[in-house]
Amino acid sequence: MLTLISIVFGALVGSFLNVCIFRLPKEESIVWPGSHCPHCNTPIKFYDNIPLISYILLKGRCRHCHRPISFQYPLIEGITAFGSAILFVKFGPSLSYLFYFAFLASLIVITVIDLHHQIIPDVISLPGIGVGLLASLIIPQINFLDSLIGVLLGGGSLFLVATVYQWLFKREGMGGGDVKLLAMIGAFLGWKAVILTILLSSLIGSITGVIMMVLKGTDFKYAIPFGPFLSLGAVISLFYGENLIRWYLYLNR
Ligand SMILES: [Zn+2]
Repeated sequence: MLTLISIVFGALVGSFLNVCIFRLPKEESIVWPGSHCPHCNTPIKFYDNIPLISYILLKGRCRHCHRPISFQYPLIEGITAFGSAILFVKFGPSLSYLFYFAFLASLIVITVIDLHHQIIPDVISLPGIGVGLLASLIIPQINFLDSLIGVLLGGGSLFLVATVYQWLFKREGMGGGDVKLLAMIGAFLGWKAVILTILLSSLIGSITGVIMMVLKGTDFKYAIPFGPFLSLGAVISLFYGENLIRWYLYLNR
């Protein structure tokens, strides 16, 4: 029953994340006005704004102008609901669940905005660093020192990579947004997870880059946003980090 509530809660938060994804890059208010159809601007009634369910009932179209509603809306709601349930099963009804769910929600918004606009909004990553540090004082999964070193290592290492890259190739390879994102990941997950996140995101990013080059024939200058890979690496670290680190140490005994 509680898990079901966590799914509904996740879907509702997902609905709000859609608003953030749509409005944050335009620097619009995320609380006012209410949702509108992007085609005909008609305000969306509350009964047409039920996460996941309204999309199915309306068959993916605006009730007023009948033009299609982006599949991104139910997709984000579904992913957020699923993530909420998984975290709830892992952490139970606790502050840890709430903090990690806030972390996951931030990563979802950052990923989609970075994919669309190649920016990572400071309004998420910078407060995120503060919330992560605060969480380390409250929840049992991480201590403050681990979190603080995570921020410094996360921010510092990518800052170094970005500076060296720019010096070598005379162009920006990694945005300042990535630096702040990895600092936020370090705040929530600690310094070990930062190393794991860098390894995982570089690996997945490189494989994706090679596949893109083969499929599209684009060269390395074609900048793929790195934020989604950092976010994916962080999510894997959150769920499997301890197992991966233990497995790695076992292999290197
Ligand atoms: Zn419409």
